[in-house]
Amino acid sequence: MLAERYDALFIDLDGVVYRGDQAVPAALRVLPELRRLDTTILFLTNNSARTPEQVAQKLQGLGIEAVGTEVLTSALATAALLRREGAGERTAFVIGERGIREALEGVGVTLVDGQPDRTDLVVVGWDRSADYSKLRTASLLVERGARLIATNADASYPAPDGLWPGAGALLAAITTTTGAQPTVVGKPAGPLFEAAAEATGATRPLVVGDRLETDVGGAAEMGWDSLLVLSGAARRADLLASRALPTYVGEDLSAVLDERPPGRFRRATEREVEPVRALLEISSLRSGGLDRRLAGTLVAGGSDEASGLDATACLESVGGFGLLRSVAVRPDVRGRGLGMLATAAAVGEARTRGLTRVFLFTEAAEGFFKGLGFSVIDRESLPGAVRAGDAAAECPSAVTMALDVSP
Ligand SMILES: [Mg+2]
Repeated sequence: MLAERYDALFIDLDGVVYRGDQAVPAALRVLPELRRLDTTILFLTNNSARTPEQVAQKLQGLGIEAVGTEVLTSALATAALLRREGAGERTAFVIGERGIREALEGVGVTLVDGQPDRTDLVVVGWDRSADYSKLRTASLLVERGARLIATNADASYPAPDGLWPGAGALLAAITTTTGAQPTVVGKPAGPLFEAAAEATGATRPLVVGDRLETDVGGAAEMGWDSLLVLSGAARRADLLASRALPTYVGEDLSAVLDERPPGRFRRATEREVEPVRALLEISSLRSGGLDRRLAGTLVAGGSDEASGLDATACLESVGGFGLLRSVAVRPDVRGRGLGMLATAAAVGEARTRGLTRVFLFTEAAEGFFKGLGFSVIDRESLPGAVRAGDAAAECPSAVTMALDVSP
């Protein structure tokens, strides 16, 4: 199963393990199972307000076994970064709550409150009692040479009644004032992930998260695989608007217990014409003209010759538009996110080529493509080149769909 292919799971909390004050049901089932498998688990959070023990207590309160050492907050990672840099005795003015304050003191940083004239560092995290006076002091210290460090740059904090200003919003007040470039620790920046690797000794971890920009994008920057779960912030349609794509996508954390093939899409080679044809035919899709379309054909899997390719999709350019066709997944691995990833990879191909609208014809998968953000359109409204092309002629009774591609 997926969890066994990696030496650690770095699991995001909000949107994966809980949503607000409710446990995600899958997490209650899956986490004990991962413990039985002896999987190395580290919970990662950008939130710097709580201490690891406070986070562990919250998890325990939701019925999830956890101890403080299994939690890595952006506060702890900030402290780890400063410890690694090792520059001895330093002073810091902090905009932040207990989590970051305790973490900094833990590595020997002296916190200076009030209105100091100078400090070595200004550290900004989420602070529900931040006010003008603190922002002014922080800005003045940065202007006088203090190094600006942010636990994370999250613009907002998702609260039950809406979005509250996040650490990034407080940070923006200081960077807007001073023009300073902060060192950012939390996802998608590297230091939190580096601290996670250091804490576990993992060299081949899987990042599990609910956000494309932070969890998936950050993992990709590290060269790590990721699983996007749809139990939190990201929706299916967001996949098609994202530059960074996850290795896997699943409904929730239970995906880590599946036999889920990776969706690493690459261009098909000439030697793969027959495997692609076999995959299309077993999926009842047309394979005529495949040789001509090879340049736009993406495939995943295939290292194991016996089972063939796992999935494919093709993006053709027709008259300045994208035409998505031949989305197919091997029957025994269907329902495990590969179709979504194939479609997202093909739409990414359209984006790379500067195509702003993608069309498709489908006889059986209207609901699937609708879930990914495509809309049904009238065949008459197709651009002439697409309407007169061979794909349109091959499927006269198919539903016609379109998607605007975000730049
Ligand atoms: Mg999250």
